[in-house]
Amino acid sequence: MELQLDRILLQGLMVLFPLVLYMALDKNERSANRERAILALLCMMIMVLFFMVSIKVSPGVFLDLRMVPWYMAFIYGGHFVGICVTLFFCIVRIFIGGPGMVPALIVIIFWSFALWGAVKKYPRLSLKNKLVFSTVLLIVASASIPIIGSIILNEKVTLLSAATYLCFILENAIIIWLSVYLLETHLERRSLLKELQRAETFNVVGQLAASVAHEIRNPMTSIRGFIQLLQSSENLTNDEKSFLKVSLEEVDRANSIIGDYLSMGKESSSIKTKDVDLSAVISKSINTLSSYAALNNTEVILHDHNKVFIEGQPQRLQQMFINLIKNAIEATSGSGLIEIWILSDEDRVLVKIADDGEGMPQYQIDNLGLPFYSTKEKGTGLGLMVVLKVIKEMGGSLKVTSAQSKGTVFNIFFPLKTK
Ligand code: ADP
Ligand code: MG
Repeated sequence: MELQLDRILLQGLMVLFPLVLYMALDKNERSANRERAILALLCMMIMVLFFMVSIKVSPGVFLDLRMVPWYMAFIYGGHFVGICVTLFFCIVRIFIGGPGMVPALIVIIFWSFALWGAVKKYPRLSLKNKLVFSTVLLIVASASIPIIGSIILNEKVTLLSAATYLCFILENAIIIWLSVYLLETHLERRSLLKELQRAETFNVVGQLAASVAHEIRNPMTSIRGFIQLLQSSENLTNDEKSFLKVSLEEVDRANSIIGDYLSMGKESSSIKTKDVDLSAVISKSINTLSSYAALNNTEVILHDHNKVFIEGQPQRLQQMFINLIKNAIEATSGSGLIEIWILSDEDRVLVKIADDGEGMPQYQIDNLGLPFYSTKEKGTGLGLMVVLKVIKEMGGSLKVTSAQSKGTVFNIFFPLKTK
């Protein structure tokens, strides 16, 4: 064995080149599934390339940067992509065979289990912690390859092999640091750009809201009052009564639309916050919508849980939940079930609103919350815009998953109020 520096360097390039290409060709239009598929294919391709330029330690024993694509697959693609790439590696490695096969399989399978729990927590880390975590993990994981290998194969460690292993571990650390850094800054720039595009439309709507909505609300209040007065009159025919009922409903509908507009114009800094009991707010919202749900033959269930407090503004939170539950009711139309869970861990609260309604395709999920985006005949496309605004004000985040004709899940994350 000799110090195969050229191969070590070549392997580094084989990771970085596809990564840079992937970012350069990213047009921000790919769906999440497509992105995962591309990531899986890229990682598998890099692994195959590695087999061609691996460092030959002894016949049938190879050393390469396989832990880098393996790690990227798990962390940025999730469990499924990670398993696919790991299985792919195992199959190819078994096919190649040789004495190095067993230690290679043991190492990658062991680390797949070890990494399992971290996959979900990783996105919440800061950039610095992501870099530290990735680099440390890769140093330990890549060091385990020659260590396990030489134990199982009973190999003597010479000065030369020790130097090679050291270079190899060092390169793993450098390449993963660079890959994570490049990808993370790219993802951040991408989401900033998206945010910017959204903010522009929001500003226009906000200004419109401030000037128009408020002016309309006052005359609406008097119209509503007079309709109610008329309703109490005794000499009305049945037809006239039903006309008045419809008028009242329509005035209420207009009022709630104005409410949505008004809350768009509100500056978030002018809103006072206090401790809010989440389950109380959600129960209230469900109550408000109970007749609407009954009309649509839909059942809304709030599951049992511990008391959870967050910092926010109860009215706005209620408006947010009403908008979300109303959408869910409208999506189920017919007979449906809406289930709501409040879950909490050390530092955040998750409100899960799941319906078994019509669901949405990916492009529709991507458009959610854009002003005036609606697929309904009588829709305004304001509801989710308000939802997003309230979530943002409270420092929370939203994740939507949906399957067509199966249902939709809205996951709303809030920072937990620490007492
Ligand atoms: P509106 O309800 O007036 O259409 P929203 O902003 O509340 O406006 O919702 C925008 C769009 O998002 C809806 O038209 C609908 O297509 C989609 N949507 C929202 N929630 C759901 C859901 N739970 N299931 C399916 N589609 C939904
Ligand atoms: Mg709506």
